[in-house]
Amino acid sequence: MRVYILTIGNEILLGETLDTNMAEIARGLVEAGADVSGHLTIGDEVGAIARAVRDALAGADAVIVTGGLGPTPDDVTQEGIAEALSVALHVDEEIVARVRERFRRIGRTMPEINVRQAEVPDGAVVLPNPVGTAPGLRMESGRAILYVLPGVPSEMRAILEASVLPEIRARSQAPAPVIHLVRTAGIPESEIAERLAALGGVAGLSLAFLPDPSFGVDLRFVFRGTPEPERADALALARRSLGEAIYTECHGARSAVTLEVALGEALRARGATIALAESCTGGLIAKRVTDVAGSSDYFLGGFVTYANDAKIRDLGVDPALLAEHGAVSEPVARAMAEGARTRFGATYGLSVTGIAGPGGGTPEKPVGLVWLGLATPDGVQARRLQVPGDRRWVRARTAQLALDWLRREARRTP
Ligand code: ATP
Ligand code: MG
Repeated sequence: MRVYILTIGNEILLGETLDTNMAEIARGLVEAGADVSGHLTIGDEVGAIARAVRDALAGADAVIVTGGLGPTPDDVTQEGIAEALSVALHVDEEIVARVRERFRRIGRTMPEINVRQAEVPDGAVVLPNPVGTAPGLRMESGRAILYVLPGVPSEMRAILEASVLPEIRARSQAPAPVIHLVRTAGIPESEIAERLAALGGVAGLSLAFLPDPSFGVDLRFVFRGTPEPERADALALARRSLGEAIYTECHGARSAVTLEVALGEALRARGATIALAESCTGGLIAKRVTDVAGSSDYFLGGFVTYANDAKIRDLGVDPALLAEHGAVSEPVARAMAEGARTRFGATYGLSVTGIAGPGGGTPEKPVGLVWLGLATPDGVQARRLQVPGDRRWVRARTAQLALDWLRREARRTP
């Protein structure tokens, strides 16, 4: 089943709205076993919408349109579709009654302009909208189905899942692909690609690399028609090649297990606790650790010690170390980690000190230089990073690498 996606809205063409609907619809379609044959974004203009809808219908089994269904004069998707299918618009009294009722329930009378929302092309079947006023529509043209959904993402999603995807799933001849997600941290995309080169020969497998500075690299395995033993072999090869860089994996395209969730699981399994001493990340690591509900089980607390005096006062860093080596140095990172560990009485103390930029770099200590310290019951370790990118990127990458180091350490310790 070939499905074409049309997103409508001037604000998308102006770059003000990011077209997340396209991505969401495409993911849903792939999981439903359909092929997305193309995508186009067009402005709120009747003629352009009509042409695009006609072209899309000519080359696909189904077309999904979103956006421009609202009551304001700039929303002209219904007109465009009526023109494309050479049908007239009529007011659907049931929709008017439903919209009137929604307004009544919140103690308002429906503005007459909202009647526009109830204008639907002749022959359209209304798809109920459980979360808003703009209804979805379903029409047929030749052998193709045309679905029209509102632009508001929550409303689009509700109708897509309730009315569109079930029908597409039922009509797709191809069996739904088997999707498996593998999430990694602490290993560059290019190195993953090298290690997994042998997977290029697995029939029916398409492997997507999804890198993100704060989440590492996600690997999405999409198997189409690959027999189960070969799927299992492919995943086993990935596990062997990537080892402990994998922090979680699951069936399906999405996972709620972030790196900080995986870290929390590793700490909890060992009854271990952590304390933090952050400088250039300014609390970013603490923020991510505490994004996880229940993190009070293992997170004792932390210091954001930006000034040298704070490192001395709050963490007990020896002023002589700061004077001799500077704040961004191995001895200071070690002392910060040990200070956090002992002051909080934690199993692990994790520290970060670095130069996030754009200023403050020198030839010996360039922007992006970061020292991490990790104090454990067996002693203190330090690690030097040279993180590329701007300030935001340096901080995000540093937090990610620090959390990952701690995760690996916590997992290794029995
Ligand atoms: P409304 O009844 O709110 O007018 P609508 O169906 O007319 O809904 P639009 O006016 O096109 O939809 O968009 C409403 C809002 O939904 C936009 O301001 C935007 O925030 C969001 N939106 C629209 N299209 C998209 C899209 N493709 N991706 C993400 N968000 C979108
Ligand atoms: Mg609108």
